[in-house]
Amino acid sequence: MNLQNIKIVMVGTTHPGNIGAAARAMHNMCFSELTLVEPQCPVGEIAYARASGANAILDNRQTCGTLGQAISDCSLVVAASARRRSLSWPELSPLELADKLIGMDDSSRVALVFGREHSGLNNEEIQMCNYMTCIPTNPDFSSLNLASAIQVLCYELFSRRNAKPAGIKQPEPQDLPAVSQEVDGFFEHLQRVLEISRFLDPENPGMIMQRLRRLYLRSELTRNEINILRGMLTALEKQR
Ligand code: SAH
Repeated sequence: MNLQNIKIVMVGTTHPGNIGAAARAMHNMCFSELTLVEPQCPVGEIAYARASGANAILDNRQTCGTLGQAISDCSLVVAASARRRSLSWPELSPLELADKLIGMDDSSRVALVFGREHSGLNNEEIQMCNYMTCIPTNPDFSSLNLASAIQVLCYELFSRRNAKPAGIKQPEPQDLPAVSQEVDGFFEHLQRVLEISRFLDPENPGMIMQRLRRLYLRSELTRNEINILRGMLTALEKQR
């Protein structure tokens, strides 16, 4: 696992102190890439004071307008959430997440996504992720401070970073996992074909697309598999 390939994504953060404290936590644990999605506060004096010297992380931060942009180059996207959801999403414990990252090839990029202080991540944002992870807590008081949650997950991954056993083979290029942008292109294509074929009623779509997202995201598609699926959809489109 290469910690430099893991980006920390903070969505809609309202308190600059949390952004600074997150930068400090990241630098302590050898992470370097911070992306803010629609931050609701300036990254100024308060954030730099709380960063306590981890200024480079704040200086080099990326800012994006949407979560989709922030994760477009990532092949594994994990949402940190204190809450279970109405449509249950595949879940990894922080330790299982660390083990999964150890097995990944060194070039794949990963995003850990953290939500807003007051409302966390919404369902649509969770459904853009392959997995959810939840830090075990007191069941009656499960919500950590945002920067503390980042600290705990970064520590968990940092402490397992050298655990990779020798001899793990790097996958062939076509067997590399597809990145989020490629998977999104497939979902748009799939939805279009399901609507044209009238399997999906755009006026009354129910939860079908969410369930299909869950199915395909769970299988962590490779580039090759995305090409096959899109080729099938194109052939079906042409037949009509
Ligand atoms: N009231 C919000 C809590 C937000 S805490 C809610 O009900 O969702 C801000 C963010 O910190 C969360 O979106 C999540 O990314 C992270 N976080 C807080 N506690 C966590 C926990 N126990 N496990 C994983 N992430 C957690």
